[in-house]
Amino acid sequence: MRKTTDYLHNIYRYAVAAPAMVALVMVSGKGIAQSKNPVIDNIVKEATDNSQLQKLAHELFDGIGPRLVGTPQMEKANQWAVAKYAAWGIEAHNEKWGEWRGWERGISHIDLVYPRVKSLEATQLAWSPGMGKNTVEATLVILPDVADSMAFQQWLPNVKGKFVMVSMCQPTGRPDYNWQEFATKESFEKMKKDRTAQTEAWANRIKKTGYTSKTLPLVLEKAGAAGVVGSNWSAGFGVDKIFGAYTKTIPTIDIALEDYGMLYRLTESGDNPKISVHTESKERGPVPVFNTIAEIKGTEKPDEYVMLSAHFDSWDGGTGATDNGTGTLTMMEAMRILKKVYPNPKRTILVGHWGSEEQGLNGSRAFVEDHPEIVKNIQALFNQDNGTGRIVNLSGQGFLHAYEYLTRWLQPAPSYIRDSVQTHFPGTPGGGGSDFASFVAAGAPAFSLGALNWSYGSYTWHTNRDTYDKIVFDDLRNNAILTAILAYEASEDPAKTSREKSVLPVNNRTGEQMQWPAPVKATRKGGMD
Ligand SMILES: [Zn+2]
Repeated sequence: MRKTTDYLHNIYRYAVAAPAMVALVMVSGKGIAQSKNPVIDNIVKEATDNSQLQKLAHELFDGIGPRLVGTPQMEKANQWAVAKYAAWGIEAHNEKWGEWRGWERGISHIDLVYPRVKSLEATQLAWSPGMGKNTVEATLVILPDVADSMAFQQWLPNVKGKFVMVSMCQPTGRPDYNWQEFATKESFEKMKKDRTAQTEAWANRIKKTGYTSKTLPLVLEKAGAAGVVGSNWSAGFGVDKIFGAYTKTIPTIDIALEDYGMLYRLTESGDNPKISVHTESKERGPVPVFNTIAEIKGTEKPDEYVMLSAHFDSWDGGTGATDNGTGTLTMMEAMRILKKVYPNPKRTILVGHWGSEEQGLNGSRAFVEDHPEIVKNIQALFNQDNGTGRIVNLSGQGFLHAYEYLTRWLQPAPSYIRDSVQTHFPGTPGGGGSDFASFVAAGAPAFSLGALNWSYGSYTWHTNRDTYDKIVFDDLRNNAILTAILAYEASEDPAKTSREKSVLPVNNRTGEQMQWPAPVKATRKGGMD
């Protein structure tokens, strides 16, 4: 079926471009696969024969590292991207959109020193206060199961000089898929039931202190704790999610499940384990934060825009390789290819590498606020931000006529790429999740290129294992090809895209008509209180 479609499609394209070719294409069976628009052919060829993805990945993830908002690494990445674009002959600049708490991660050395010595798999959280040259050796105390907040206040002096363990001890370090494969059905069910009960009990334990997991660390700090210790297991072998600290003077540390469990059991059994903690970090005061914007100027309709989009920032437990390094690289590679094979686009092709998506789509929201002239003239925007996989999902985001242009633009892509893309029309407008939502809220036809998950949620998303080795370069190359083709087709389209919104469905729980998401203001000053 697909072959037939290709065949007809190719004939159609050639019939438009060069009628004399039609006969050739029809008689030459072999020619069919290559009988495409030469720009499309060249996109595929450049992406395949001259891929820069590995080099870019190495420079960005191994060399520069993670890109937490307000860190020198984020700034370095902004500068690196501008320099890359310049080297490809593409205009780029860093556009300031706000200020953030400037912080720089230093070393984390965390060891068990009693009753035996072992280096622990642990790291300070983002924004953890520095300890200077100090090293603290201390025992641990487990957050107790108190009756109520009064009882907690009475217990609180016990934290003085100790590291306080605020996470529960996971009953298993094996992911559920591993249990599913090897456990008896009864044993798997029992484990899940016990774990659910334990998880609820732990949430209740925190609640009974009268605080939340966000406010508790500061209370422990005020009461003289040496540090706050947790373990945010990400439900896979060896993965923890590494987010930010709430303490202001004492370190907040994540310890991997295996070591955390050991410390927890040793503490619980009265063995009084002692850990040695030395973390360093630097406060840099408020620093400017940027979006990196690059453009290939349009020749016929320079004031209409095809936009590529991916957030540039990341959390910093790993190197942000798949969140959102892979989206970043896809867009950079697509721009590089377009500049080479399609240097004079009809419409202007823009790319936005956004800052501070992780704290609430801030860079893209700021761009939408600062550039109404661009937003109202966006032909289409393509954002990618859910890992390294092949693009398999494309939703019309509630735009009534998106099915017409998106399916038409997809059509010339090689079938091995196009065939795995499931489209959903009209779809519903995304209210968040990634930066396309900032544009959808403003009524611009912005779309999310949804990737195959490759265990994204548990293994790489915001984890300590979000690193270079998780990238699937074949999939990334396909995505760069698809993105470049969509950008090319959107740029060449004789018509400006429709922004007509579909009538949204009634929510079957509340019975209310769904509303188009409203724009949300960017946080322009972040992390400072
Ligand atoms: Zn992301």
